[in-house]
Amino acid sequence: MKRIICITCPTGCEMEVDEKEGKILCTGNRCPRGAAYAETELRDPRRVVTAVLRCTDGRFQPVRTDKPLPRKLIAGLLNTILKKSFPEAEPGAVIVSDIGNTGVNLIASGPAR
Ligand code: SF4
Repeated sequence: MKRIICITCPTGCEMEVDEKEGKILCTGNRCPRGAAYAETELRDPRRVVTAVLRCTDGRFQPVRTDKPLPRKLIAGLLNTILKKSFPEAEPGAVIVSDIGNTGVNLIASGPAR
């Protein structure tokens, strides 16, 4: 049994989650979205990634993924962007597309400073 907090909405339901015979069972969720979150969290946990890129002119630009990225791909993405410098992009512009064939993009989330 595992305790997790659903982060799908501000209510933040505390859930107890267990897996039995291949099925995810959860209690404590106030709506079905909590069960869906628990299923994803146990089988394929994902996170929105935020970071700061080094621009080619020496400034820094905030970036984030446009959707949650599978956790197993986060370290590789961060290693890739930490080793390079990038030209400044307009906020919202895609900097790295379709990370690991997931359909998730890394986008500029603000201006370079
Ligand atoms: S289970 Fe439903 S009500 Fe509870 S935090 Fe998740 S989305 Fe919100």
